[in-house]
Amino acid sequence: MSDHPQPLGGNEMPRFGGIATFMRLPGTTEPSDLDVAVVGVPLDIGTSNRPGARFGPRGIRTESVLIRPYNMATRAAPFDSLRIDDTGDVATNPFNLLDSVDRIERRYDQLLADDVITVSIGGDHTIVLPILRAMRRKHGPVGVVHVDAHTDINDSMFGEQITHGTPFRRAVEEGLLDCDRVVQIGVRATGYAADDFDWSREQGFRVVQAEECWHRSLTPLMEEVREQVAGGPVYLSFDIDGLDPAFAGGTGTPEVGGLTTIQGMEIIRGCAGLDLVGCDLVEVAPAYDPTGNTSLVAANLLYEMLCVLPGVESRS
Ligand code: MN
Ligand code: MN
Repeated sequence: MSDHPQPLGGNEMPRFGGIATFMRLPGTTEPSDLDVAVVGVPLDIGTSNRPGARFGPRGIRTESVLIRPYNMATRAAPFDSLRIDDTGDVATNPFNLLDSVDRIERRYDQLLADDVITVSIGGDHTIVLPILRAMRRKHGPVGVVHVDAHTDINDSMFGEQITHGTPFRRAVEEGLLDCDRVVQIGVRATGYAADDFDWSREQGFRVVQAEECWHRSLTPLMEEVREQVAGGPVYLSFDIDGLDPAFAGGTGTPEVGGLTTIQGMEIIRGCAGLDLVGCDLVEVAPAYDPTGNTSLVAANLLYEMLCVLPGVESRS
């Protein structure tokens, strides 16, 4: 539809020119007439190892300039189907994590009051807690498809309750999740105890460790995932470190033996048909990947998320 916000074409302004919004959308701070708000959350003071995810939104917007509106595999036409725009960044407080969490929560309350689906660009994974709090107020407890090398269910880190390694523990405690409709995919590597992932399973989550994904398509897995998480609102949270560092090394806590870019795309495409109320792509720290590849992968995964939102039609 010509009255929907559209990405700026490469024949109107060269791809390396113009304002660096996501996919060169017009950009707006007024979400009330949108169906989907792309939101940057530049925060990295919740990280435990390498910082730098505060530059994720900027890096991903920069690498998103090459993406065109139509999905040649699925024929999805997100910008024809929905009013989608980049609504800029949450003004996080770089000197105070808890104040930043409050600020994120208030911004998402505003956005959700306008009935938009939020597609968020992190930022470290701390941001999912205030987002899920706002989602709970709007939609009730949500199911979650969580892609990550880590379960992010630590009780605390250095004694702190709010960090990028604790959001899903807090989300369970606060009643934000419909625990039988939660799946964690790609978790792996080393732990503090051999039963680290079992707490998730005790809550009712399905935990798919990376080894179960090795050497295979994840399309069959996603049939089972859809069956499990259907029947209510679903939130998709994609930590870029779910992918192998060979594909996405620009992140703070890389773990070897991860998913491929293609498997990440299969997971997102496998979410088509779910009642997605929000998505995020977190933990991109562009400085550790001078090629820009991690941000490029992330930008394309965010585009794939736009393509599976409720109401997106395919062009025949
Ligand atoms: Mn994470
Ligand atoms: Mn992670």
